[in-house]
Amino acid sequence: MKCKFCNKEAEVTIRYPRMHLCENHFKEYCENRVKNVIDKHRLIEKDEKLLVAVSGGKDSLVLAYILNKLGYEFEGLHIDLGIEDYSEMCKKSSKKIFSEIGLPLHIVKIKKLLGRGIGEVKTRRPVCSYCGLTKRYIMNKFAYDNGFTTVATGHNLDDESAFVFSNILHWNIDYLSKQGPLLEAEDKFVKKIKPLYELRDKEISLYASFAKIEHVTKKCKYARGATSIKYKKFLDILEKDNPGIKLNFIRGFLRNRKIFKKKDFELRECEICGMPSQGKKCAFCRFWRLKEPLMFQ
Ligand code: SF4
Ligand code: ZN
Ligand code: ZN
Repeated sequence: MKCKFCNKEAEVTIRYPRMHLCENHFKEYCENRVKNVIDKHRLIEKDEKLLVAVSGGKDSLVLAYILNKLGYEFEGLHIDLGIEDYSEMCKKSSKKIFSEIGLPLHIVKIKKLLGRGIGEVKTRRPVCSYCGLTKRYIMNKFAYDNGFTTVATGHNLDDESAFVFSNILHWNIDYLSKQGPLLEAEDKFVKKIKPLYELRDKEISLYASFAKIEHVTKKCKYARGATSIKYKKFLDILEKDNPGIKLNFIRGFLRNRKIFKKKDFELRECEICGMPSQGKKCAFCRFWRLKEPLMFQ
């Protein structure tokens, strides 16, 4: 089978939109998809100071690699979660890609900052739940303290379609109103963007292997309990018989998202860190029992 765009042998078959591509044209297809999402949703505008959050996994490293290839200026942020050798591997891959592309990478170590790593806190709360809370808070606070206007993350089509699907099943209207490739800045929350919004998990894996991007393939030991896995598996079954269903689902959701109205919470300043909060203390300061704010300047 020949590549759709040149005479070379095709190495990849994309089922939707159906085409056969050689290695180079497959990489170009992925880069164009990212560029189209950035342009269509105006994710990165002139004069923005961009921070790219990298975990060490394929998605965020491919994101940093493609953004650099597309000519964007940015700095990286890696949060060392303190999960034994897993976190060490993640840190190593993140450092490697940033040294290859020649851009600065900031590393925040949770254990050093908060005294304990993820998984070491005695709580009834599931590990992934407080890990997510911690990462979201640190990404935003680090960006805010250092004058970054925008944080980019590596969420892909599979993550986002599963997230929207599960929130529709549970009618989490408030979450749905905030979902999409762009979340505008509000108060002390900086703008959040997801440029890989229309790239599939498998496409990103293939891109990483063609571009020789070393990344961590081992799963975090707490990932097994993550509920998103079952929704992803369900959507994979649907996609197998209906190529393109995830992409159409997510695009249809974006067209109709306005029907999910955002609840207007009255936000005040957290009495510890000064960030927006629904209560006297924000969820992060409450969970980590902080007495002083974390500062990243
Ligand atoms: Fe954190 Fe859970 Fe992801 Fe592990 S699987 S990095 S604990 S969110
Ligand atoms: Zn080709
Ligand atoms: Zn706080």
